[in-house]
Amino acid sequence: MTRNRLGAKPEFRSYAWPVMAEELTEEERRMLRDALLKLQSELDAQLVGLADGVRPVDLDEPIGRLSRMDAMQQQKMAEASRRAARKRYDRVVAAIAAHKRNAYGDCLHCEEPIGYKRLRARPETALCLSCQTAKEKQQR
Ligand SMILES: [Zn+2]
Repeated sequence: MTRNRLGAKPEFRSYAWPVMAEELTEEERRMLRDALLKLQSELDAQLVGLADGVRPVDLDEPIGRLSRMDAMQQQKMAEASRRAARKRYDRVVAAIAAHKRNAYGDCLHCEEPIGYKRLRARPETALCLSCQTAKEKQQR
């Protein structure tokens, strides 16, 4: 651990963040960035796996009793989860980009802090709870 002349640990330096209760701390910001990067590689792997499911049925693979309807249904489901994973992946990439710009953690709509609890549950979240709720009401 390196210490400056005054003997204080460098991480206790004060930062010029706006005084807001829900603003992320440096530690939270770092943990969420790690969570985003982990999520990105997980989704990446998931998308590769799901892409296999979307391909037409393999001729070498015995189809057995699985009917054509079942195969089509399975393909539809694979396509839907691939699309959902793709969407989430795009949001994760956007969140990582925002993190690099130092704009991460603020609501895209109202620019208020989203809050650590919400971000910890879904690190790629771009909207605060009230903006998200308003958006979902609009879509209904
Ligand atoms: Zn908002």
